[in-house]
Amino acid sequence: MKTVAVIGTGPRGLSVLERLAIGLAKKPAGSEVDNIFIIDSSCVGAGRIWNPAQDECLLMNTLSSHVTMFSELQPGEPEVFARRLTLQEWLNTTDIESLKKYCADSFVPRKIYGLYLKWFFSEVVEKLQTYTSVTVVQDEVTDIAEDRASYNLLTKTGATLKGVDSVVLALGHDRCKQDSTAVETTRTQMTCSNTKYIMADSAADMDLDCVRPGESVFVRGLGLGFYDVTARLTQGRGGIFESQGNELIYRPSGEEPKIYAGSRSGLPIPARGRNQKPLGYTQTCHFFTVTRINERRMHSGRFSLSFTSDLYPLIQAEMEHAYYVAALIEAGGRSVAEAFASEHSSERDPYRSIRAQTMSRYQLDRFPPLSLSDLARPFSGMKFGNQHAFMETLIQRIEWDTCEAEKGNIDGPLKAALDVIRDVRDLLRTSVEFGHIDHDSFVSEFKHHFEPLIALLTAGPPIFRQKELLALIRAGVVQIMGPEVKVDSIPGKYTYVSSPFVLGYCPRIETYIEGMLPTPSVAQRQALLVSNLLEKGLIREHPKFKLIGIGGGIDITSNNYQVVNRAGDNQKGMFCLGIPTENPKWFTQVGSGTARKISSFTMDAKVLVTHLLKELELKNYPEYKAVSLNGQ
Ligand SMILES: Cc1cc2nc3c(=O)[nH]c(=O)nc-3n(C[C@H](O)[C@H](O)[C@H](O)COP(=O)(O)OP(=O)(O)OC[C@H]3O[C@@H](n4cnc5c(N)ncnc54)[C@H](O)[C@@H]3O)c2cc1C
Repeated sequence: MKTVAVIGTGPRGLSVLERLAIGLAKKPAGSEVDNIFIIDSSCVGAGRIWNPAQDECLLMNTLSSHVTMFSELQPGEPEVFARRLTLQEWLNTTDIESLKKYCADSFVPRKIYGLYLKWFFSEVVEKLQTYTSVTVVQDEVTDIAEDRASYNLLTKTGATLKGVDSVVLALGHDRCKQDSTAVETTRTQMTCSNTKYIMADSAADMDLDCVRPGESVFVRGLGLGFYDVTARLTQGRGGIFESQGNELIYRPSGEEPKIYAGSRSGLPIPARGRNQKPLGYTQTCHFFTVTRINERRMHSGRFSLSFTSDLYPLIQAEMEHAYYVAALIEAGGRSVAEAFASEHSSERDPYRSIRAQTMSRYQLDRFPPLSLSDLARPFSGMKFGNQHAFMETLIQRIEWDTCEAEKGNIDGPLKAALDVIRDVRDLLRTSVEFGHIDHDSFVSEFKHHFEPLIALLTAGPPIFRQKELLALIRAGVVQIMGPEVKVDSIPGKYTYVSSPFVLGYCPRIETYIEGMLPTPSVAQRQALLVSNLLEKGLIREHPKFKLIGIGGGIDITSNNYQVVNRAGDNQKGMFCLGIPTENPKWFTQVGSGTARKISSFTMDAKVLVTHLLKELELKNYPEYKAVSLNGQ
């Protein structure tokens, strides 16, 4: 008789529970898990980020038809759920009146995804209860103590969950440590200059009520967090967007503050291309393939490749393929585009530029070259005589980007090229994780250079968010600061913001909002549980990343996500997945599976549960067979 505990019921914890239900459906007679503890300190069944109690203006950033929590089954796996609905299918079938308006494929409010997660949770728990007992606990686990061959889980309210054989840590996003040096420094600077300070967090959990109508607020960061904070301070306060032709206009409620926002680039995160890819779409790759990567490994005689010289050229060639094919079609020549596609895919050496002959035969010089760095820093080298001049240039840039995004992620050259990165993300993951590329290259080339570029260029909001931003700018509610924004304070007086590239503009601010959610390293996590486990040595920070200073995630084994303890041994019965394992894993911030696809989100849970059940000595459990992602 065995007991399992899953700590955290955000999407990752739920994905583990679903795989447990599938795994236990195959349980051989005589081997039993007799209890599963399911614990969350926040919203049990949806988790903190997707809590259905949040503001409706905060949106999910994934299309509802693509979102599913049910894993794509492989041959031989039991069909244990009567209905395996995607988010959109669930919306279509639900009889909740208020949800009927979300019938078209859309970017639904996060609270709606939270409701879907809760429904999914109840389906999974119901199924689990046919095999085992389930104990749902709303509490924070603060410590785990070893007790001979099992664990006791101690909670904040003083309860002890005893005799746990396997623990899954699916802890997700942590809150920033209140007393970290960075937080302390900014907080002190703001306090000394009579400026309110709001720490980075999910916008749903920020206390924005302290921001008064009409006051000047600065949001640091122009990523998705900026769009969230802006939505809460405008739509969330009763402001309304109205369509006027192809434009939106903003009707203020009068409750809005004056919002200033800035970042290093001065560019609000661009929109994602309109989706043209059907469910189950698989990118046909010509260059960034397992075969090419392995060939490179063989020829170089190195197992660990360099990101910049070995992997990136393959990705660049793949993006250029999508870019020029779409550009040639747009320029009027489908047959020319087909000829180019065939020539380029068969003759291009991805480690060299496109051949001069090909460039001239298809007149590719007429299209601007595809450079991620230029796209991410469009104002580089520019100086502006005043704020008005900067805003004019910025508005043109946003309008241009909106136009590119509307062309679509297949037909639009720019967004088709950038969407390649999203399509190859799973292969990219397996190519860089767990030491598959040289460590120095991983840190300096991949983490410090490439990752911020693609976070800016490929993770953007839907197009309408960008149109809303334009409307807010036109309504005078939002001002974007020029590049390399600086925050300065006059102690005892006030704080002001400025850009060294925009002359004569330095508005004073009354509230400073940290709009960029960092992924804290394990050591910087606020959670008591993590610091207690570190102190006991049951977990450790991945030693390589800790030394390099980018913050190691929880050290885990690459083949089954078992935690590695301080001594460097696998910690029996303890597993971890998702965000706490960022470095050595990569891109762990994923909140759902992808409909009609075997996604890495699903595979992570599957691999973990397979091993967990094996370790519990449930015999005859089917062997996990590696399935190549991307079908390659
Ligand atoms: C604001 C925001 C918006 C996002 N939007 C999207 C999106 O649109 N699409 C997408 O794919 N991804 C999105 N993401 C990425 C995000 O990482 C995932 O969507 C997702 O929430 C991650 O799931 P998780 O289960 O790993 O973590 P979480 O959702 O953070 O869940 C972890 C849970 O563990 C609980 N927990 C932690 N420690 C303990 C403890 N000691 N005891 C008890 N309970 C504990 C927490 O309360 C929490 O509920 C977004 C992220 C953020 C922050």
